[in-house]
Amino acid sequence: MEYISLIIIGFCMINEVFLLPEVIRIGGLFHPADDRQEIAFRYAVEKINNDRTILPRSKLSAQIERMSPQDSFHASKKVCHLLRSGVAAIFGPQSAHTASHVQSICDTMEIPHLETRWDYRLRRESCLVNLYPHPTTLSKAYVDLVKAWGWKSFTIIYENNEGLVRLQELLKAHGPYEFPITVRQLGEGSDYRPLLKQIKNSAESHVVLDCSTDRIYDVLKQAQQIGMMSDYHSYLITSLDLHCVDLEEFKYGGTNITAFRLVDPEGSDVRSIVKDWSLPTDNRNKKSDLDNNTFVKAETALMYDAVHLFAKALHDLDTSQQIDIKPLSCDAVDTWPHGYSLINYMKIVEMRGLTGVIKFDHQGFRSDFALDIIELNREGLKKIGTWNSTEGVNFTRTYGEVYTQIVEIIQNKTFVVTTILSSPYCMRKDSSEQLTGNAQYEGYAVDLIHEISRVLGFNYTIRLAPDGRYGSLNRQTKEWDGMIRELLDQKADLAIADLTITYDREQAVDFTMPFMNLGISILYRKPIKQPPNLFSFLSPLSLDVWIYMATAYLGVSVLLFILARFSPYEWDNPHPCNNEPDVLENQFTLLNSLWFTIGSLMQQGSDIAPKAVSTRMVAGMWWFFTLIMISSYTANLAAFLTVERMDSPIESAEDLAKQTRIKYGALRDGSTAAFFRDSNFSTYQRMWSFMESAKPTVFTSSNKEGVEKVVKGKGSYAFLMESTSIEYVIERNCELTQVGGMLDSKGYGIAMPPNSPFRTAISGAILKLQEEGKLHILKTRWWKEKRGGGACRDETTKTSSTANELGLANVGGVFVVLMGGMGVACVIAVCEFVWKSRKVAVEERISLCAEMASELRTALKCQHSTKQSQNCAGSNSKAIRQNQINSYNSYGFIGKGQLA
Ligand code: ASP
Repeated sequence: MEYISLIIIGFCMINEVFLLPEVIRIGGLFHPADDRQEIAFRYAVEKINNDRTILPRSKLSAQIERMSPQDSFHASKKVCHLLRSGVAAIFGPQSAHTASHVQSICDTMEIPHLETRWDYRLRRESCLVNLYPHPTTLSKAYVDLVKAWGWKSFTIIYENNEGLVRLQELLKAHGPYEFPITVRQLGEGSDYRPLLKQIKNSAESHVVLDCSTDRIYDVLKQAQQIGMMSDYHSYLITSLDLHCVDLEEFKYGGTNITAFRLVDPEGSDVRSIVKDWSLPTDNRNKKSDLDNNTFVKAETALMYDAVHLFAKALHDLDTSQQIDIKPLSCDAVDTWPHGYSLINYMKIVEMRGLTGVIKFDHQGFRSDFALDIIELNREGLKKIGTWNSTEGVNFTRTYGEVYTQIVEIIQNKTFVVTTILSSPYCMRKDSSEQLTGNAQYEGYAVDLIHEISRVLGFNYTIRLAPDGRYGSLNRQTKEWDGMIRELLDQKADLAIADLTITYDREQAVDFTMPFMNLGISILYRKPIKQPPNLFSFLSPLSLDVWIYMATAYLGVSVLLFILARFSPYEWDNPHPCNNEPDVLENQFTLLNSLWFTIGSLMQQGSDIAPKAVSTRMVAGMWWFFTLIMISSYTANLAAFLTVERMDSPIESAEDLAKQTRIKYGALRDGSTAAFFRDSNFSTYQRMWSFMESAKPTVFTSSNKEGVEKVVKGKGSYAFLMESTSIEYVIERNCELTQVGGMLDSKGYGIAMPPNSPFRTAISGAILKLQEEGKLHILKTRWWKEKRGGGACRDETTKTSSTANELGLANVGGVFVVLMGGMGVACVIAVCEFVWKSRKVAVEERISLCAEMASELRTALKCQHSTKQSQNCAGSNSKAIRQNQINSYNSYGFIGKGQLA
């Protein structure tokens, strides 16, 4: 309603000129500590009066009242005093105690009240304009930043209940079932160390600090004293005035200290305005950069903006109505008729001030504002991004800038590197002199850290993990041991060893990208030589090939026999001198067929030779088959005779799982054991149950112990170990070998405390070394060259050649060709049969069918290898002359018929 009436009045009086009073008084209420706000207030008044672009015909006059922040009675008195002098608005005060009294008086008298302080009571219906960003929206900025960083847990340190209100969105965003957030209150006194120590012991590295700007330094200083300002700690400070805190001592610690700011003290507009502001005379000689910055506290800048906002609204209101300002008395409940109009004008004005664009939402709150995200680095606080209520967080730093900054920090660091003794990653150096420091150790990991330090330019000290363990999580106590514990306690910055990247470890610490890839495999003693086998001549072909060959032999022989009977061209005249024989003879009796095929299979031959095309086809295909089979057999036999046969009871993890005679185990609490413990695959689950229940234990405390167990076990123990370590062992111990392939695939990485800023840089260095081939050179050096490497190379080559029996997959094609050939032979035989029958049928002048039936009958009498000749059969082929062959000639003996 108010807005509509204002617009109507504006239209009606567009041509009238109203005259504001020449002097417009405005009241400022300040506490002694608010001297900077007071200066900003006065300066803003002075600036508007000199400028003359707003309120050209009037001058503002600042009426200042000072009072104690706790004394609300006094505050009421001062306000009434100001109102009696006839002020158009009241600015301040900053303390919540006094502000509410001032507010209620202003509401009653309808005098605009301008505030610039954080106020969680969201009042709308009053005569108040608060330029401080809207608390709920500000709270969202913290949530957005925490989410952009991906913090999974954090601790909130707050000073008073207002702080909890300020952070309520953050508390809501992380429910109790998601990631844990711990909330702790700063005590009353000035010793925060006990509280900070508790936070440190909880291994928390993310802290949200909500306290007054004056206490920030003390809290950070004490955090530094107890070691909570390391590279791995991050602080989000909720104050908008971090630039007013002396952070000189924290610049080089590497701690990530971030905050938001509303005003950029370095901005050219701000600098040009602030440069003329001066401290009260007693402070003037102490003026420094920091003092200068304190002028640009959010609340100071907001005071400056508030005066401008008031002047602009008054200027706009002046164009629409006659405004007169009168003294008001608190005793007679009197009101200023223009108060609400002025407040409404202020809420619709949009202007740019020191704190960015000033505008209010439909409820009159400043909820549309932008903040800078600032971070402390070596040069001081630097802007790294922006936040606004519509787009959220936007980091403006490039990846390259972040990387360069981290590399710069690294260059002055001395990292503590934790490791354990494990060949060939870290071993004690053999020397006649007493060695100290890093010189005591050598190995792949030692060389690797040396190379990385050369790339990035840092120093390092190697320290062995006290318990000599890799790091495993105790599921009862939820405590880590080994190298991981060292990192979590921040006793070490890096862990370099054959430390496998696992899911559990990745949850607790940060890993770089892997520098070596590997998988779990089996270390076992080498297979023993087998005594020569009496029947080793059978080995070149597999059993099924032998069976198929025997079947092919029988099949081809029978087919030859049948086709020979069918084919008319296989029936010969037994007496070549007699041109008209009575009987014809067929040489391919069943026995002769078997003899013919075996003869060619054995590369010998027989005096029988096929004459018909069909039988020749059968013979040709069979010879081709035997040629291939015999040459394959011969070649493979040669290989079998030269290769020593080895006997290994296990070939894979499945073989291990199937038996119980050979015991097997892994390194206790290592990633290998964890793989079997957590596997869902039934074979590995079975193996894990076996390992767990085995007595005495099959687990070892080091890889070295595992290797010794395999050697001493002489085949009764197999050790599940990582392939790279197996490779190292079998290069030196020729009795041992790797059995089967890899059961999984994983990598070794360099671990560092959670939230480590150096991960990207170290990963980058690993990548560089990998691309330059340095990692490969290191591997060759420590695996194959140094400390007895290459001792088993000859043996490896000797046993590596093996011969395998030929299976059906190798020679199946020959069988197919043979079968094809047989098929073709059958077709040819049918053609021959029909052709000859047709010829005889024409000669004898009988039907083709009758002739064929007669021929077929003769052929099917398989006990005879002779048949009646067509010459002597006369005109009646069916009148068979019983010049039978005597039984001696019959089936199976000489295959040659005689006339009776
Ligand atoms: N490299 C392994 C680890 O990090 C040791 C193993 O289990 O074989 O735990």
